[in-house]
Amino acid sequence: MSYRIQLGLLFAFPVLLIGALYALGAAIPVPVLGRAYVIEFPLPEPGATIGLPDVAGPDDLTRPLVVIDAGHGGPDPGTVGEDIYEKTIVLGLARALRDRLVEEGGIRVAMTREDDSFIVLEERAEIARQLGADLFISIHADSAGDQEGVEGASIYTLSDTASSEAAARFAERENDADVVNGVDLSGTDAAVNAILVELSQRRTVEQSAEFASLIEREGAGILRFHPQTRRSAALAVLRAPDVPAVLYEAGFVTNPDEARALASAEGQEQFAGVLARAIRIYFARQSGVE
Ligand SMILES: [Zn+2]
Repeated sequence: MSYRIQLGLLFAFPVLLIGALYALGAAIPVPVLGRAYVIEFPLPEPGATIGLPDVAGPDDLTRPLVVIDAGHGGPDPGTVGEDIYEKTIVLGLARALRDRLVEEGGIRVAMTREDDSFIVLEERAEIARQLGADLFISIHADSAGDQEGVEGASIYTLSDTASSEAAARFAERENDADVVNGVDLSGTDAAVNAILVELSQRRTVEQSAEFASLIEREGAGILRFHPQTRRSAALAVLRAPDVPAVLYEAGFVTNPDEARALASAEGQEQFAGVLARAIRIYFARQSGVE
């Protein structure tokens, strides 16, 4: 064995070790704020086929494609409010945005779910990747537990380590969604994915942050934002290394007034108008028009 190969193996060893741990299905503990926080990145079985949704909008592959992901669905209600589920609120918002984009034209749109069906977490981002999406928006609505009067939207982008304790708790809750139907998808070959993420995520993260800023800018004075509007967390649904992605927390299901507003036609239209504008400006910038 030549010296050069030995040296190469020495450097490759940590990567191979982590890869082997992933392959064995081990959860890699990531220290966050001084405590061990386990983030798992389960993937569908290799070779498993994902049913791809229809793409609405112009029949022109040069047009940008947005994938809208309404969180939860089916047996997974998400946050349960006084008289409404998160899964219902976010589907209404997602449909309104899809309809707005299709109506205005020029942008292709697909939804991960168009009805009350369940889709595992990893398939959501994977649908966007397989369709070759240019932008991925996952829509959720939050829980404030027993706290009253908490309201407003937050925009999440991906971080390697959760940026605050609240973000970490959120990541834990949303990442847990996969165990809802009792299917264990952990322990598949995430090693390759982990390396790809390292290599290509930087650009994607920058683009995601730019889009998040546009939502904030276009929504000012129209949408109600949480005082801490921009957040980052280790969310599995945002992990596609090559599709810019944000998770939009529309507001708090646990706040009955806000839940009703988000479920109303007016609330849906306000959301759709702001997001559609942010999307158009984002694509214009990407193509160098603006
Ligand atoms: Zn949710």
